[in-house]
Amino acid sequence: MEADIKEVFASIQGEGPFVGYKQLFVRFCGCNLKCKYCDTDFDTAHASKYSVNGLLKLVELNKDCHSISLTGGEPLKSVNFLKQFLPLCKLPAYLETNGTLYKQLEDIIDYITFVSADIKLPSCTELKPMWDLHDKFFKVAAQKELFAKMVFNKAITDEEIEKACNLCKKYDIELILQPEMVGNSLSASSGFMENVLDKALEKHRKVRLIPQVHKFIDVQ
Ligand code: SF4
Repeated sequence: MEADIKEVFASIQGEGPFVGYKQLFVRFCGCNLKCKYCDTDFDTAHASKYSVNGLLKLVELNKDCHSISLTGGEPLKSVNFLKQFLPLCKLPAYLETNGTLYKQLEDIIDYITFVSADIKLPSCTELKPMWDLHDKFFKVAAQKELFAKMVFNKAITDEEIEKACNLCKKYDIELILQPEMVGNSLSASSGFMENVLDKALEKHRKVRLIPQVHKFIDVQ
């Protein structure tokens, strides 16, 4: 079994509560969504085919990493590969996902340790609302160490903040607010971001605001 993988590299996690950990990143090709702000190159052009054994060898060479970050694109699109790879992988698996492919998640949840699941806001992604899909996804993911990550910009609405907080409260998980970046700059002022955080904290106690740190320390 082989997977289309854009790149594999060891680096420092720059998002969410695991910021600062060294991880082995595996960037899978393909995604089921098209977010407006997406800046990730995940198409199969210039991608490489990795076998299960080939990737296991890279894990062996990077045993000092805290965990293996399965990212993309959307890694759950490569679920058949992950079903073979994960039972043999010696590093804890950290799944970075858009939080929609819950059936695929069911197939591999036993082998996942941490789940970073997105909440996609229509105001920021220009996608249709996905609250029901996220709910189904979180129900499966909550079996493991789960947190939600929500990219927002100045268009975020009070209704979106409330719905996201209610969803995270339902599963008693932390909500990470991540301001959208335009290039290497924050898309909103510090006052605006603080206001969004305060509104969220009125609805749910477990909320933090963490920008993309890797853009400031200039690592991949
Ligand atoms: S889910 Fe992630 S990879 Fe897919 S389009 Fe959205 S931002 Fe890009």
